[in-house]
Amino acid sequence: MINLREQYGQFGISETVYQFGKEILDSLQERFTQIDLVAEYNQLKVIRAMQTANVSEACLLGTTGYGYNDLGRDTLEKVYAAVFQTEDALVRPQITCGTHALALALMSNLRPGDELLSPVGKPYDTLEEVIGIRPSKGSLREYGISYRQVELLPDGGFDYEGIRTALNEKTKLVTIQRSKGYQTRPTLSVAQIGELISFIKGIRPEVICMVDNCYGEFVETIEPSQMGADMVVGSLIKNPGGGLAPIGGYIAGRKDCVENAAYRLTSPGLGKEVGASLGVLPSLYQGLFLAPTVTASALKGAIFAANVYEKIGFSVVPDASQSRHDIIQAVTFGSPEGVIAFCEGIQAAASVDSFVTPEPWDMPGYDSQVIMAAGAFVSGSSIELSADGPIAPPYAVYFQGGLTFPHAKLGILMTLQRLRDKGVVTSDFKRQV
Ligand SMILES: *Cc1c(COP(=O)(O)O)cnc(C)c1O
Repeated sequence: MINLREQYGQFGISETVYQFGKEILDSLQERFTQIDLVAEYNQLKVIRAMQTANVSEACLLGTTGYGYNDLGRDTLEKVYAAVFQTEDALVRPQITCGTHALALALMSNLRPGDELLSPVGKPYDTLEEVIGIRPSKGSLREYGISYRQVELLPDGGFDYEGIRTALNEKTKLVTIQRSKGYQTRPTLSVAQIGELISFIKGIRPEVICMVDNCYGEFVETIEPSQMGADMVVGSLIKNPGGGLAPIGGYIAGRKDCVENAAYRLTSPGLGKEVGASLGVLPSLYQGLFLAPTVTASALKGAIFAANVYEKIGFSVVPDASQSRHDIIQAVTFGSPEGVIAFCEGIQAAASVDSFVTPEPWDMPGYDSQVIMAAGAFVSGSSIELSADGPIAPPYAVYFQGGLTFPHAKLGILMTLQRLRDKGVVTSDFKRQV
């Protein structure tokens, strides 16, 4: 008999908290089986892509200097193109983060006089400065590229009439954010994105449709690029890096779009031919290999969290039973104490920096204080167990990641223990009002 209880006890988790979690987990087995099936499907997809691209031991060696004829880099891009079923891909450690990948895709495919349209409301915070919604040096706006936005309808649906009106002869590119990010709108399913793209292409077939795929990769068995997206863009320190990639971003899509991005990343004329991979290729390959099961672990953690906190009486987005299209879980605690205790619990479950206590701080770019919990092997990696929340109404915390499900489970149980110890949750698991 394996004594799990005792193991959790070493982390200060009480019998009652452990049992409360166990009962919820027992009720989730059927859903977890479904997630495992998606992971299995995607695992085979990745292995097949690596086989088809003839990944060899030599691909794991890196280049230095200019990086001409970097077999591993060029082959990895073939693997990504096969996984996303696109003509080409740009997958580089020189792409520093998700925002950089998105900025690159936009800036390289738009020209002065063009217009960019977001038909799904406000984009991710960091893109506001890229686009020039908030003034910034080097924004699209400074280069004479205009921007339009159509809000989602109150029920989260697309405002098709609004989108039809917004599309015009200047519209060159449409950006669609798959994940809700840190908003409360629902995350879009790949099928919904497909419908939106068909609608747009029905009106203006020449418009480039780009999907911000951050946090969405491998959550479903298909990707937006299989539903008409001309480019899918994301970060390697989220889902597709599988927790191992130490840096990087990707753009997979139509050959001409990817070529534009490569010319912008390096230089006109040089494009994909340069860019040494240095020593990072093994972790990019192995991370992609692990990504389907790592994403599944994070997804299970998010569902477990939703079920724990909904049962206690807090509002959760997505709710306990909703289908999932990204790995982010929002829990609204309604008090600063709740947000802080939750983040303390996540931090205390970390393998790295478990002994530090997260505290609210004045983070640049935010008007309220923000608290963050992260003890990651890769700094800032949000496919690893992490949480953050602004110390402002409605006092919601955003939780994501977990490279393994046992780690995500430990994290959630630690948060619950902390909330109970601090009286935010009563001893019989009710919301303290
Ligand atoms: C994380 C994220 C980004 C930006 O990625 P960074 O790596 O943080 O720059 C953009 N869009 C969405 C939806 C994201 O989740």
